[in-house]
Amino acid sequence: MSDKPAILGGAPVRNKPYPEHSTMIGVEEEQAVIEVLRGEHLSGFSARPGDRFLGGVKVREMEQSFAAYFDTRFAVSFNSATSGLHAAVAAAGVGPGDEVITSPYTMSATASAIAMTNGIPVFADIEERTFGLDPTSVRQRLTKHTKAILTVNIFGHPSQLDELKAIADEHGLMLIEDNAQSPGMRFHGEYCGTVGSMGVLSLNYHKGIQTGEGGVVLTDDEDLAERLQLIRNHGEVVVGKIDYPAIENTLGWNYRLTEIQAAIGTEQIKKLDKLNGLRSNLAAVLTKKLEKFDFLRTPIVEQDCTHGYYLYPLKFDQTAAGINRDTFVRAMQAEGVSLGAGYVKPIYLEPMYQRQIAYGKMHCPFKCPLYTGDVSYEQGLCPTAERMHFSDLMTTDICKYPNTETEVEEFVVAVEKIADHISELQNI
Ligand SMILES: *Cc1c(COP(=O)(O)O)cnc(C)c1O
Repeated sequence: MSDKPAILGGAPVRNKPYPEHSTMIGVEEEQAVIEVLRGEHLSGFSARPGDRFLGGVKVREMEQSFAAYFDTRFAVSFNSATSGLHAAVAAAGVGPGDEVITSPYTMSATASAIAMTNGIPVFADIEERTFGLDPTSVRQRLTKHTKAILTVNIFGHPSQLDELKAIADEHGLMLIEDNAQSPGMRFHGEYCGTVGSMGVLSLNYHKGIQTGEGGVVLTDDEDLAERLQLIRNHGEVVVGKIDYPAIENTLGWNYRLTEIQAAIGTEQIKKLDKLNGLRSNLAAVLTKKLEKFDFLRTPIVEQDCTHGYYLYPLKFDQTAAGINRDTFVRAMQAEGVSLGAGYVKPIYLEPMYQRQIAYGKMHCPFKCPLYTGDVSYEQGLCPTAERMHFSDLMTTDICKYPNTETEVEEFVVAVEKIADHISELQNI
């Protein structure tokens, strides 16, 4: 019998916080930043045709290094994945009255990017093996208003990209991948983020690699790349000067990355494989040690796919455990180890969707006269996503750098303590 769980008054397994920095920021990044600071330009962008329309030397260098890594023709940098997602949805031609099918079990920005173009986010359910979009549910959500599918490779594992691509091709839709959580992961030999027409990466400070804030959109399509560049950099004052013919959705923002960030990004991409390797090695250790607990379901890795464990998803079997998930999570948190209940609340349950209010108070874009469809955000819309969030799923980030087997072992010890005392936890 192991020690008394902390939630019952015992000593916690861990009593210090986890390290903050999850990527390897080292002398390489330091030197790259100093070089920029000693030069003339902290940004090289200018919103007029010509060389500087595409940014400074470091921005272009970073874009080349990403295009080379992912083997795509273009990598267009942005100041966040959110701005990259917005630009990608706009470049796909989505506008007022168009629907885009996406997952409700993702960071809110995925769906917001659709609303930002005045499009309508339509939520399809997820499958419960790897928590990506369920192609069967996507088919059920297709209407004559559907313009694109925005899938998410969530937690570090690809969604069912082949089937989603087949649906998109069959119906003349564009497939966009939100690949913020799975850079460097593979689906049937291809990199996640390169199967769809565009794939979006995040470089914010808690993603696999970072530039503080930042994003990249990958594409092989020259026209899409140009549209992305216009949207990034005040397209409205550029299209006239270059006689750009199809100006819809080229209204631009300032989504430009600075030279300092880009210089860091060029160093970070060199470390991506190593950081991914460290996480998957730790995840393998964790999975092996957790398999003996009959009330836990360790992550599934589909055939010919890789998992990056940006978050390590763990399913909880309440019947086998004899306590509910939330009690288990509270007990784990009392041990001082990192574990969360669910992931995010399915997005459509947030007030913006429940009250259908985004722009102004007149329910735009949801009740825009140009939208003649009938979108639903009712509770129960995506039963699997709701069940994962409210009762079945837990996520932990303990596999990330610079954690080691010590933190993994602590996690397992905490599970053991709780498992040994489970009957005492039934009434708390
Ligand atoms: C982090 C994240 C984003 C947003 O990234 P930012 O760079 O912070 O804008 C979008 N989608 C998913 C799935 C994410 O995890």
